Formats: sequence, structure tokens, C-alpha cells
Amino acid sequence: MADSYDVVILGAGTGGYSCAFRAADLGHSTALIEREKVGGTCLHWGCIPTKAFLQAAEVAEHAQDADSYGVRASFDGMDMPALVKFKNRIVEVNYKGVESSLKARGVDLITGVGRLKDARTLVVQTDEGERTITADKALVLATGSKPRGLPVEGAEVDGEQIITSDHAIYLGKAPQRPIVIGASAVGVEFATAFRGFGAEQITLIEALDAIVPQEDVDSSRALHRDFRRSGMKVMVGATVHKVEKGSDGVRVSMESGDSVEGDILLVAIGRRPVSEDMGLDDAGVTLDQGYVVVDEYCRTGLDWEGGAQYAVGDVIPTLGLAHASFQEGFLVAEHAAGQRVTPIDYAGIPRVYYCHPELASVGSTEQELSEQGVEFDKRLFPYSHNARAMMMKGTGHVKVLAGKHGGRVLGIHIVGAHATDLIAEGQLIYNWEALPSDVAQFIHPHPTLSEAIGEAHLQLAGRPLHG
Ligand SMILES: Cc1cc2nc3c(=O)[nH]c(=O)nc-3n(C[C@H](O)[C@H](O)[C@H](O)COP(=O)(O)OP(=O)(O)OC[C@H]3O[C@@H](n4cnc5c(N)ncnc54)[C@H](O)[C@@H]3O)c2cc1C
Repeated sequence: MADSYDVVILGAGTGGYSCAFRAADLGHSTALIEREKVGGTCLHWGCIPTKAFLQAAEVAEHAQDADSYGVRASFDGMDMPALVKFKNRIVEVNYKGVESSLKARGVDLITGVGRLKDARTLVVQTDEGERTITADKALVLATGSKPRGLPVEGAEVDGEQIITSDHAIYLGKAPQRPIVIGASAVGVEFATAFRGFGAEQITLIEALDAIVPQEDVDSSRALHRDFRRSGMKVMVGATVHKVEKGSDGVRVSMESGDSVEGDILLVAIGRRPVSEDMGLDDAGVTLDQGYVVVDEYCRTGLDWEGGAQYAVGDVIPTLGLAHASFQEGFLVAEHAAGQRVTPIDYAGIPRVYYCHPELASVGSTEQELSEQGVEFDKRLFPYSHNARAMMMKGTGHVKVLAGKHGGRVLGIHIVGAHATDLIAEGQLIYNWEALPSDVAQFIHPHPTLSEAIGEAHLQLAGRPLHG
């Protein structure tokens, strides 16, 4: 095997493998180096396993609520080993799919631990010994991230009573009184899953003053209301001060003096980049709090005659989402091939939360527009006015923010059933800089949830239908 390739990528998660796919499709000889399994966090620990869990939680919630639809069913609890098997099957099929796509495209997959020697060279420790791999056009760092620990007394993760998402997807039994610290995507998704699995009491703790704090104020409030209504204990502005483990559970004490007890503690306070102990510092890569610093083309600033070093995915300080890393992977492969590429507008990448109700958004929040002094109009169309949502007994809304007096759409925020799918339309509206009147020309299929998007735009365009 050659030890020099046009494109060399370290890390085969979504950022790394998407870059490898595109580089190979563009005719580049490509090497992808991975120490574990192709697919990385998203496929083995993140997006896919957690959504399989949430799908099961939804089935369980439907079983618990079936009577109200006139359906006789009963919920007798979770068979967690069976759920883990279901999840593993989905992961396995997708894993095989990515592996065979790499093979079909002629990407050389090298199993081993990579270390940066200089801007364009990696030394890879494989089972057969050390290999030195050099990039001619692009060396891409795509080493991803890992869960952040909670830096307070007693909160060391043990994988049993105190866990992260990595352990939660292998739970042998459904927790009865789980405590979740951190109310961003991972936290609200697991809180939802635990509720579906039939937990007696769920406590969700967030240090900031709102759950899903990066989101639009109305989305955050709607989700908070829904969680509370379902019996979840939601604590915001609550800073954890100490964690104590006992034989039958965990106690979490807050700085306020409050404390809560549970059978398991899930630490979901975010992730940190994987950038240590791989020679990045010595090779001159600029790091900021562990993140690799890049420009708008994902270049690290290190280059050589005819080539450059890049970084993509969770190791750079952009959106920690798989589809953001896909977009970065493609951008890098095309830039390295000399194509004209447009820097990514990160506000145009949908943010998605698969809690129930789901939450998704694209563009600016109301808070951001106010801070920037942008004048805007807004309309909020409630799911309670949408026939399809009523059948799903779904709460939620679609909120659209647009420039004052008919200006372009600046933000779309959806809470409710299928928000994560519906936002795909919002993504096109936002990125194509549509006006509400452009969208209002197209009447949405009836009865669908998508009508809520149409109705909000109809209102903004001064042509309301049902609202
Ligand atoms: C619980 C959870 C749920 C999530 N759900 C979603 C979701 O629904 N939608 C979404 O868009 N995003 C979701 N995410 C985020 C998403 O998983 C990440 O944004 C994405 O996986 C980042 O991809 P990456 O390629 O940057 O890194 P990773 O997927 O982490 O891949 C990095 C790879 O590099 C390898 N590596 C690291 N160092 C070396 C080395 N020195 N040598 C060789 N190999 C190395 C690692 O083994 C790993 O396979 C979720 C994350 C979590 C934790």
C-alpha cells in the first residue's frame, strides 16, 4: 500500500468519512485512519443509538396512552436487553453500509492510532507496526469529541451509578428515578427516553436559567411546560455542588442547599474535543480550549507547497452536530480539489432535538435578533390549531421571525411532533432567503403538520387562513 495519498484523514466519524467519500468521488487517492470503528460517535454512541432508544420510548408512551385512542393495549415495562439488541441491529446495518461505501469508492481504511508528525504527515500505530502516511493535497483532522465530566466532588463517572450517554445506551434495566444533569440535546433526549420507559420520577437539572438554553425563548418555554406537565421535575438555574453515592442510589446537592435523590445520575453537560496526546501542539496546530482553530474553509493555517491541513467536526468549535460535520467534510474535500466553495453559514444548519415534543430550529432566535438590534416581525402558529397535531395530541408551535415589513425569513423555530423532519423545509426557506410572501404562495397539503409552517408564513404575509 502506498504511504502517500492526495487526502489523508484522521478519524472516521461523520466528519472524516464524509470527507473521504467526497475526496474519493473527486478522484483523489484517499486514506482514512481510525482507531476504533468507522462511523464514530454518531453511529455507535450518539445519533443512531439514541434515536433507536427514543423510538422505543415513543412506542412505550403510545402503549401507555392507547386507551385514549380507543385501542386496547397495556404497557408491562421495558425489556432493556431486547431494546439494546434492536439498537445494535440498526447500528450494525448502518455500520456495514458505511464500510462498504468506503470500499466501493476505493478509500484505504487504515486501522490504528494516528499521531501528527508535521503539518502533512501522520505516524500510525497499527497491529502490524508503525506506518508513516503523508498527504499531498490535504491532511484532515477529524478526531471528534468525548463526554465532558462534571467537575464537582463525588461526580466521577463510574459507568454504573454515575454515567454518561456512552453508558446509557447499554443500560441493563430502565432507571426508576433518574437524575439528568444538563438540559441541552443529550439531556432532554435521555430525560424523554426515561419517561417513555416508565420512570417514576425524573429530575432534570440545568445550571443556566432555561432548558435548551441556546434555543428561542418560546421553544424553551414550551418544552419546559410540556416536561413539567408530564410530571418531570425540572430545575433551572441550579448549580450542582456535590454528588454522593450510596448503596441504593445517588444524592445530588445544589449550591442553593436543595438536594435530590435518584437511582442513577446521567451527566450530560456537553462534550470536549479529542485533541490531546496526538502531537497537535508539537506540530504547531493552534488550539483554543482543546478545539482546533480553523478559518472559514476549515484550514488550520498549516500548509505546504500544493496542500493544506484542515479540521472538521466536533474537534473544531462549530455546531456539534453530525450533519454540520458532513457539510464540513464535503467543503474540505471540494476546497482541496480546487473547487470554488462557499463558507458555511452555520445559522443555516438546522439544530435538532429528538425529545418529545421534538424541537428544531434554523436561523436566528428572537433573543439574538433583539441583541443585534434587528427589527423583525414574528408569528407563532400553535399546533392546537392544526388538525393533524390534534390527532397526535401534540402540543407545540411553529414560530417564524422575518425582517420588518415583509423582509426575508430570519428564523424558524418548531416545537412539536416531527419538528426534526419539518425543519428541512425551514432550512430551504432560510437558506434561500425567502420572503414570507414567497412561501405564502404555496398552500401546504391538508391535513399535515407542515401546514403549521405554511400558516405562520401566510399570517406574516397578511393572508391568514386558519390562524
Ligand atoms: C448521545 C448523543 C446523541 C447525538 N445525537 C445527534 C443527533 O441526533 N444528530 C446530530 O446531528 N448529532 C448528534 N450528536 C452529535 C454527533 O454525534 C457528533 O456531532 C458527530 O458524531 C461528530 O462527528 P466527528 O466526525 O467530528 O467525530 P466522531 O464521530 O467522534 O469521530 C471521531 C473519530 O476519530 C477517531 N479518533 C480519534 N482520535 C484518533 C486517533 N488519534 N487515531 C485514530 N482515530 C482517532 C475516533 O475513534 C472516532 O471514531 C449526538 C452526540 C451524542 C453524544
